[in-house]
Amino acid sequence: MRSSAQAAAYAFLFGQLYACKGSKVPYKIELPKDAPYNMQFLRGGVGFFTERGGTIGWMVNDDGMVVIDTQFPEQSKHLVDEMVKMKKGKIDLVINTHHHGDHTSGNIVYTELTDVILAHNNSKTNQMNAAKKRGNESSQVYPTNTFEKEIQKRVGKEIIDLKYFGPAHTSGDVITHFQNANIVHLGDLVFNRRFPYIDMGAGANIANWVNVLDQAMTMYDDETIFIWGHAAEGYDVKGGKDDIRAFQNYLEKLLEFGEKSMREGKTLEELKQTTTVIPGAEEWKGKGISRSLDAVYAEIGRE
Ligand SMILES: [Zn+2]
Repeated sequence: MRSSAQAAAYAFLFGQLYACKGSKVPYKIELPKDAPYNMQFLRGGVGFFTERGGTIGWMVNDDGMVVIDTQFPEQSKHLVDEMVKMKKGKIDLVINTHHHGDHTSGNIVYTELTDVILAHNNSKTNQMNAAKKRGNESSQVYPTNTFEKEIQKRVGKEIIDLKYFGPAHTSGDVITHFQNANIVHLGDLVFNRRFPYIDMGAGANIANWVNVLDQAMTMYDDETIFIWGHAAEGYDVKGGKDDIRAFQNYLEKLLEFGEKSMREGKTLEELKQTTTVIPGAEEWKGKGISRSLDAVYAEIGRE
């Protein structure tokens, strides 16, 4: 019988093993020792990848292969290299949760690898506008398919639901649910203990963002694992409803704080000089609060 130390060494040596239900093929990730990226299975053949930019969600199992968000070309190449070590063939589906460059610049890597890059209508428009503005239209690969409210895709036996609940982080954020694995990718709808980017120029809406997170918390059960785009140093890019609720509280407190400050006649400049945390949401700290203050004043100001 193997000792637990031996068992641990065995597990280490052979990497992270994953065998999907009823499958004879064990899929495993063996990252190079000096890999600049992290890639892990979570459940049901679905996992996450982090390196530079918004967290990528992916699926590799007997049903097929799926990628959610693409970071930058170099990062997508790293991901694809790991995926093809486990399984050959085309990627059945690539999804963009929204248009931001740290989620879609890697789309170009999938030109020959997939037939479908799926996103919300607004996300595609935003992607085109952003590429025009940056002057990099030739290197930006746009979604091939878009939808308005919801769409369901089947990849083998896995059922993948995409839903849209209106403007939040941008005007085109989608929520993706792997039904069998019961894993949800929220894109940038959660910034875990890190000040969010709120893209008013691309139709963001803080008040509706709060509603969208309500939907996310009621639509899925308590076993659901959620993946999100960004987290502060030392915090996780995946978690549960408690983390979603905590970020929702940040947005609610930001709105309250913005309204109160505006009522008191504070200018945006004053506010920026004196604010380091949002009262009632002190877990959000560090750099980047000014983007929240800009956004909340812009949103309240136009009401
Ligand atoms: Zn984003």
